[in-house]
Amino acid sequence: MTSGGAVGRATTAFPSTTGVAYLPFLTGCLPGRCNVPSIRWLDRKRYGGKWWRERNHLRSYCGWQAGHIDTDIAPGARTLFELIPESLALFTPITRGLSAVRDPTQRARRFWGAMGHYLQWHQPGDDLVSRRLVESIDQPWRFIFAQFPAVDGYTHQKHPSAPRVLRALARVDATIGQLRARLTARGEAESTLILLVSDHGASPVHTHLDLADWFRARDVRPLAHPTLWTRNPAVAVMVAGNGSAMLYARPDEARLERWPLPTLRSPGAFGTDEDLVAALVREDAVAFVVAADGQGALVVVDRDGEARLSLTGATLAYQPLTSDPLGLGGTVVGNAAEWLRRTHDSDWPDAAVQLWDQFRSERTGDLVVIAREGWDFRDAFEVPEHRSGHGSLHRAHMLIPLWSNMPLPPGPHRSVDVFAHVLHWLGEPLPSNCDTAG
Ligand SMILES: [Zn+2]
Repeated sequence: MTSGGAVGRATTAFPSTTGVAYLPFLTGCLPGRCNVPSIRWLDRKRYGGKWWRERNHLRSYCGWQAGHIDTDIAPGARTLFELIPESLALFTPITRGLSAVRDPTQRARRFWGAMGHYLQWHQPGDDLVSRRLVESIDQPWRFIFAQFPAVDGYTHQKHPSAPRVLRALARVDATIGQLRARLTARGEAESTLILLVSDHGASPVHTHLDLADWFRARDVRPLAHPTLWTRNPAVAVMVAGNGSAMLYARPDEARLERWPLPTLRSPGAFGTDEDLVAALVREDAVAFVVAADGQGALVVVDRDGEARLSLTGATLAYQPLTSDPLGLGGTVVGNAAEWLRRTHDSDWPDAAVQLWDQFRSERTGDLVVIAREGWDFRDAFEVPEHRSGHGSLHRAHMLIPLWSNMPLPPGPHRSVDVFAHVLHWLGEPLPSNCDTAG
């Protein structure tokens, strides 16, 4: 493939995992603003521990609740499918605004998703998307969204550079080539914008630290998928990707507010005398954890100490106190655009903006746990085993490719900016209340 416009790297949203990380492209809003903070979460206001009646207050988009994501998205966020009625989607996990005619492969997506999961057979799904995409380019759609799941599926089985992954990437590349050839033959190559982007990066996992088992080993009873109910759990463990997790203390005691860090550290918070926050950050698998401070700011905690993250107007301030978990070397203050420029090339790209967004959602856990590269948080129930993964905030998971056949505004870019590029190209106004740079 040759580049006629722009090629480079962008940052995705946190958690860097499929489903949630599609929200920025499709709504122009980060996951927290969408009130869909992760692929698994617990509604702390409503969940009171009742197995059957309250099972819907415990969410996982990885199974039978997958379709709930459309109605879980905050009403104020509007999808490209709602904003552009003449749009078509192929294999999209988010379908709000689509009719059956405009979402013709949804049943095939579920079928090939199951085949990929159980038989580790991902390429047929991609091949179907390729065929339908090339056919659809000759139809009068204004916007077509296509997902190619095989690269992710094969990456989990082995390595981001495994031969099957590279083969799947080459087929996506060939599909773009076919699209361009058709557009050129029709004389429309210059009037059509093609954007190629991923929802997350990936990296090999050498060690699993199963967080649910970690709590069990301390006599702290966890509520964790795939088990949908546990009597008197002391913690709910909601893993994403599997490089991050949200923890909810005493999940069967419905409450309005998130517990701040001092409460989470206090004896008895998780039904044990130990300070489990301190124990967690001592683990090699854990880069840092994040919680509210109870006074409107966030605290980022690693094994050496704490840093503070606070927002004043549109200005986000990161201030190392006893430690510098984001490795920025000192206090950093700036708006969202300045933060991206300052940290795009750092170990934790855009982390401050993404963490602040994460805690905007009332559904986010009391504690967010971030894995170091090479580790993840799920072992026992992950079938097939994830030999590579994503979901964390480090650069191997947060950096994504962004290719365009047309020039883009100067970067660096977030995946959420793709939403604005599409609307701008189509001459449609950008909705207010978005996270995109426009
Ligand atoms: Zn994946």
